[in-house]
Amino acid sequence: MIQLIRGVRDILPEEVGLWQKIEKTATSLFENFGFCEIRLPVIEFTELFARSIGQDTDIVEKEMYTFLNKKDELITLRPEATASVVRAYIQHRLYAVDPVQKFYTIGPMFRKERPQKGRYRQFYQINAEMIGVDSPLADAQLIFMLVELFNRLSVSDISIHLNSLGCPECRPGFKKTLQKFISNTTAKLCSDCDRRKDKNPLRVLDCKVFACREAMKDAPSITEHLCNECSEHFEAVKIALNDLNIIFEIDKRLVRGLDYYTRTTFEVQTGSLGAQSAVAGGGRYDKLIESLGGPSQPAIGFAIGFDRLAEIISSNSVEVSCKPDLFIAALGEKAKNMALKWSCDLSLSGIKTETDFSDKGLKGQMKKADRIAAAYVLILGDNELGEGSAILRNMTTKEQISVPVDGIVENIRLRFAENQKVL
Ligand code: AMP
Repeated sequence: MIQLIRGVRDILPEEVGLWQKIEKTATSLFENFGFCEIRLPVIEFTELFARSIGQDTDIVEKEMYTFLNKKDELITLRPEATASVVRAYIQHRLYAVDPVQKFYTIGPMFRKERPQKGRYRQFYQINAEMIGVDSPLADAQLIFMLVELFNRLSVSDISIHLNSLGCPECRPGFKKTLQKFISNTTAKLCSDCDRRKDKNPLRVLDCKVFACREAMKDAPSITEHLCNECSEHFEAVKIALNDLNIIFEIDKRLVRGLDYYTRTTFEVQTGSLGAQSAVAGGGRYDKLIESLGGPSQPAIGFAIGFDRLAEIISSNSVEVSCKPDLFIAALGEKAKNMALKWSCDLSLSGIKTETDFSDKGLKGQMKKADRIAAAYVLILGDNELGEGSAILRNMTTKEQISVPVDGIVENIRLRFAENQKVL
């Protein structure tokens, strides 16, 4: 039997209800904050990611699914969405009408990581990006919106980690200070950090390997090496977050794995996920648009790990289901034909209606209604047809009544519309 590829997974119907609930909650919240949906392709030229995420990052170095097309061009399955949002903003000159644009997008991302619980090779993200605003108030508002999403989904076990990564003015100085610190330490770094300590020493700061964490325990903090502008910006973000009653902690190790970040970076962590504790992350990328050939516009955004968010909520056991309101158990050809018409009409009027077109007897159909947890069953057999009526049964209380076939769709529709207790 052909099975799933390692690192990808199916989201089965029993989970999809929860995914839809998260999607609806996020989209209505984001739209209330003025974000518009943008849908983007999952393939792009490799260069877009290499230039934006950064050549010396884990993602670009070893995690991208890249292939040559017939024209010998390098194409990559997107590992993240921000680069594509920026590409679209530039390509369609969306800045021409108004440089301030706010987008959200939801979809699959692809990274060739070592699969484990909470880490997949195809995973989903919910992204929000605000382009054209450099005010620290925008940073606070975006984080507020992100926290509100967790509130609305009743996820309380979260903490907000905040840092500033400075800008091209102050970061190079800090990089040097950090390189010096690393070269003076006698501790042994993991092989990844050993390789990247010269080109990308900041990544050593957030390495999860115990030896590296120990080695970097007393490492200098970037927030003490910010230029005046970055320092003021960071202070203003913190004040605005306090004004909005957002609780956060400064995390000097928070670096994030993408090179395009500048100034504010943040991560939402949760205690409910074990090793993969980051459920969302984001930050400013003030130089990215210009570096990809667009206008010089600042921007800030975040990505929520959809799979991880769904996992926290399901382990919090929020009940979401797609069980039918009504199951029509019809016996005999004539009754089945009527059931077809009724089920179509009732489904169109918003009542989740299920029917069975097989030759099962009444017992088999009732079993099925039970199995799929239908709230009510409408039974239509030869006897009922002869009497011009059908039986409506409440599957919880087992109560049942006779309903005239004449005008039955309207009758049932009114029962469902008027109160939750249909009988
Ligand atoms: P990033 O795009 O790396 O900033 O990640 C943003 C969020 O996406 C993380 O906080 C995770 O929740 C989620 N995420 C990243 N990589 C994976 C993965 N391989 N599998 C599942 N979720 C992921």
